[in-house]
Amino acid sequence: MRTFELRRAASVDDAVLLGAASPTAQQGATVRYLAGGTTLLDLMKLDVEQPAHVVQIDRLGLDRIEAGEDAGLSIGATVRNSDLAHDERVRLGYPVLCEALLAGASGQLRNMATTAGNLLQRTRCVYFRDPGMACNKRVPGSGCDALEGYHRNLALLGTSEHCIATNPSDMNVALVVLEAVVHVAGLHGRRAIPIANFHLLPRDTPHIETPLMPGDLVTHITLPPLPPGARSGYLKLRDRASYEFALASCAVVLQVTDGRVERVRLGLGGVATRPWRAVDAEHILTGQPLTVANIEAAAAVALRDAQPRPGNAFKAELARRCIVQAIRNVAGEDLQ
Ligand SMILES: Cc1cc2nc3c(=O)[nH]c(=O)nc-3n(C[C@H](O)[C@H](O)[C@H](O)COP(=O)(O)OP(=O)(O)OC[C@H]3O[C@@H](n4cnc5c(N)ncnc54)[C@H](O)[C@@H]3O)c2cc1C
Ligand code: SF4
Repeated sequence: MRTFELRRAASVDDAVLLGAASPTAQQGATVRYLAGGTTLLDLMKLDVEQPAHVVQIDRLGLDRIEAGEDAGLSIGATVRNSDLAHDERVRLGYPVLCEALLAGASGQLRNMATTAGNLLQRTRCVYFRDPGMACNKRVPGSGCDALEGYHRNLALLGTSEHCIATNPSDMNVALVVLEAVVHVAGLHGRRAIPIANFHLLPRDTPHIETPLMPGDLVTHITLPPLPPGARSGYLKLRDRASYEFALASCAVVLQVTDGRVERVRLGLGGVATRPWRAVDAEHILTGQPLTVANIEAAAAVALRDAQPRPGNAFKAELARRCIVQAIRNVAGEDLQ
């Protein structure tokens, strides 16, 4: 491993100043914030991340879950995934988030992993994690060995000819259907970024994954309350029951009135380059009776633009079935 300097930030402003010493907040950043370390330290050992300065952010008071504005919730950046999943307000108010968190990683990892670290975890594409392979996300312009290689775990939605890596987080899929807002402190003050704008498509710059600038520190995430009477849930399909990333997953928020879908939000994981909001599928269902036929029609639309490669073509059907089952699970007795 390369040598690096470890600093512990004394305040949010201190962390921002230390972070801003790097020319980039993205791939190649020379300063990295250390939260739980379950992604960062792995990637440093593999020589994928090579920060000269690592800034610990565990004493900034960002480890609290509090009531947010409009009866929502505010979740600090360093709240542990386990604490978040078991918080009473999350279990009762946002089951989709609780279920997504508990579907991720293992108990030990969740005890270390934090909200912002999970939000910003890097892809699990094996070529990204191997400095001997060509990877545009790791070394811009170097090529992509995944395109003609092993891509069973990679994306079929939101891909580009430069990168087909998935965003691996379960939590992020729940956050898109909860319409979370990411709050950031930076050199020029504080700003709020809707989750829909936070993870960027790879296009021709897959190494730029978010709008974060050098020194930007995620301080917390806010969740608005769910619509009255809405139910939510998360379904994850994977090769084994634990300790495994999603092949396909679906987060659902559903509000049904008099047998018709008043509001629905659908998020997909494991199949897309960013946590994916299936907006067209939502439109198909909205205002319609909640029948299996309508759910199946919506699921088909969600995968309409899939661009599979030979090794991951099976995921289109898997994701379609995942959506159908996830909605059925959440619908309960509202299903006609
Ligand atoms: C074996 C294994 C299995 C796993 N399985 C799953 C799974 O099934 N589902 C899943 O979702 N995840 C899974 N994970 C990933 C795990 O959830 C992440 O590693 C974890 O959430 C990262 O959180 P962390 O606090 O440890 O982040 P860190 O490793 O500390 O940080 C991750 C990144 O975020 C940046 N960062 C952290 N905090 C901030 C901040 N406040 N502001 C700005 N930047 C910040 C860091 O600089 C770094 O770049 C798995 C991991 C392992 C090792
Ligand atoms: S899919 Fe993306 S992350 Fe994987 S090798 Fe290609 S460019 Fe790199």
